[in-house]
Amino acid sequence: MKSLWNDAEAAQYSGPLGLRVYSSRLLGRDKSLVLHGGGNTSVKLRERNLFGDEEEVLYVKGSGWDMETIEAAGFAPVQLAYVRRLPSLPALSDPQMVNELATHTLRAGAPAPSVETILHAILPHKYVDHTHADAVLSVSNSPDGAARARDIYGDKAVIIPYIMAGFDLAAYCAREFPKQAKKGTAGMVLLSHGVFSFAEEARESYELMIELVSMAEKYLAAKKAWSIGMPEARAPRFKREDAAQMRRDVSRAAGFPLLCRCNDAPRFLGFARHPDVARISQGGPATPDHVIRTKPVPMLGRDVGAFASAYRAYFERNAATAKAPKTMLDPAPRMALDPQLGFAAFGRTAKDTRIVEELYEHTIDVILRAEALGGWRALEDRHTFDIEYWDLEQAKLRKGGSPPPLTGQVAVVTGAASGIGKACVDAFLGRGAAVVGLDRNPVIESLFKRPDYLGVVCDLTDAAAVDAAADATTRRFGGTDMLVLNAGIFPASAPIQSLTREAWRSAMAVNVEANLLVMQAFQPLLRLAPRHGRVVVIGSKNVPAPGPGAAAYSASKAALNQLARVAALEWAQDGIRVNTIHPNAVYDTALWTEEVLASRAKAYNMTVEQYRKNNLLKTEVSSRDVAELAVEMCGPLFEKTTAAQVPVDGGTEKLV
Ligand SMILES: [Zn+2]
Repeated sequence: MKSLWNDAEAAQYSGPLGLRVYSSRLLGRDKSLVLHGGGNTSVKLRERNLFGDEEEVLYVKGSGWDMETIEAAGFAPVQLAYVRRLPSLPALSDPQMVNELATHTLRAGAPAPSVETILHAILPHKYVDHTHADAVLSVSNSPDGAARARDIYGDKAVIIPYIMAGFDLAAYCAREFPKQAKKGTAGMVLLSHGVFSFAEEARESYELMIELVSMAEKYLAAKKAWSIGMPEARAPRFKREDAAQMRRDVSRAAGFPLLCRCNDAPRFLGFARHPDVARISQGGPATPDHVIRTKPVPMLGRDVGAFASAYRAYFERNAATAKAPKTMLDPAPRMALDPQLGFAAFGRTAKDTRIVEELYEHTIDVILRAEALGGWRALEDRHTFDIEYWDLEQAKLRKGGSPPPLTGQVAVVTGAASGIGKACVDAFLGRGAAVVGLDRNPVIESLFKRPDYLGVVCDLTDAAAVDAAADATTRRFGGTDMLVLNAGIFPASAPIQSLTREAWRSAMAVNVEANLLVMQAFQPLLRLAPRHGRVVVIGSKNVPAPGPGAAAYSASKAALNQLARVAALEWAQDGIRVNTIHPNAVYDTALWTEEVLASRAKAYNMTVEQYRKNNLLKTEVSSRDVAELAVEMCGPLFEKTTAAQVPVDGGTEKLV
């Protein structure tokens, strides 16, 4: 492991807190040191208050901040002298500890100080760095891990047995550190948890961390436990219905919809097919704090019922000996190892699934290296349980409040690069859904840069491309709950006598047949949606009220309308609802070029302006108006409605 310190970069950060920000980010950049909110850092400064009195202030990482992107505002300033005294108390409950830290923070609006704050306070050095480095975990989670750690570090680091983070650990370290620390001590190893380094300068403390972790890496290399091979595993053909079925089963066990991210890259598939997977994957997490995102172990295969029973047994076994009464969390897995699908990560949001996947990617390394060292030894599950059911961790999860209504669900929108389709993507994202946008226009891929959006370039008239899009959707999010059939074309206006067969065929190909292909590819996924599938068809006012000169368009939209009605009939048995919206006069879409607008207005003997607001309410209908209704039709409001056809047109005289 190499130091990433760069003087030119460091110069952009001013003062001792600035350098604290910089070196924290350096730690955050290396995922083998810290993952997603893991690890924490601090700096002790002397500052004057408003009365001119000098006091020592501990700036410690606040919870909710990620090391890689932390800023000065992410550090909570706490009164060091007071916090340093806390370990001398005979006991301190978690709520008391949180209260003491909050009431001794010196800046209103500062984030809650890390639960490891007291540990930072008792170490006498100015800069303190703490990570959950993979290499240190591999060593300490192996046979004789403590002895190996002593071997590696000698006097360089104090070795602390596993104790759950919080007051007890801090109090233990407050007693042991002064006893064990020698002149050359530069670190502290917490077995099965992580490692601390400390120094008077930011750079030195950071580089000591790199040195301590490198020592563990070199030890692993010397024992031939660093470079780990993975048996060659060729991914079988991805079976999206299998993944969607698994996602539905897991969601039902959870009691709410979850997304599922599948990965059959060689590393994951190789581990899922490892001859010892049943033993090495079921010991527990690499470090207990992963458990709040991953649950203690992955599900093996797809037997969700068996996983849930084992989870209940784990809960009952450990809750019986817990100090306070506990309420069981949902018993659904957050990870699966499957010989066909590889690794699957489950979570309420796409970000969650990505984090779970990344945590496990590192866990695989930690496990295999410990195996090479003589055998992976996870902590007993009571320790994992203590973290999973720790009030402070639960509080972190609860902080999010109640999630948006479509959280954990997947929407697919066709023709999503612009107009009504793009507005639908917006509206779905706004309600918490993960969204896949399909479009011929390559801009679809970069329409949004966020983990809950996937853009796929797709010619919907090409069955193979549609099939690939359904695969991509399922690999990324685990299936499809909602489908908006929006893509369509409006051929140039022409009376029947001069309508070309090309124009007719292309209207039929895009407006009818492409929708048939999409429906055929996605129906098996919609059928497996945890809360039943929903389809919304963007029709047209031309269905109930065709217009002269628009034969191809009107006929194709009418055919699509009939297709949707038949789908409502056929798919009701699977709980899939199919509803249609008939928009009219939505001019902020790609269909309505100035040319088309002018020619339609002419067909009705109107000016463009008259044509724009040619409805009972004399109002303009926007893409957003249509999208909001489309998305509502996928929500609980329309739960008992299928085969409905709802106009969004400001009212049409001919149809009242
Ligand atoms: Zn820690």
